[in-house]
Amino acid sequence: MIRIIIDKSKCCGSGECVKVCPEKAISLVDGVAVLDESLCDHDGICIPACPYSAISYEESEPGGCGF
Ligand code: SF4
Repeated sequence: MIRIIIDKSKCCGSGECVKVCPEKAISLVDGVAVLDESLCDHDGICIPACPYSAISYEESEPGGCGF
């Protein structure tokens, strides 16, 4: 699974990510994009939508031995 990360220092508050998120998991709070992880389905649609590359992701391992 991937985890969505929003870099607040890069966010300009244009809301492009808010518009594309089908789950309405992103909102603007004080002009900065904030993710509600409980709504996010981790499809990654918002990542290319940001013109300032403020959204990225990291892989989260499900556990196990790593092989
Ligand atoms: S990964 Fe998908 S569901 Fe999650 S915030 Fe981005 S667009 Fe919305």
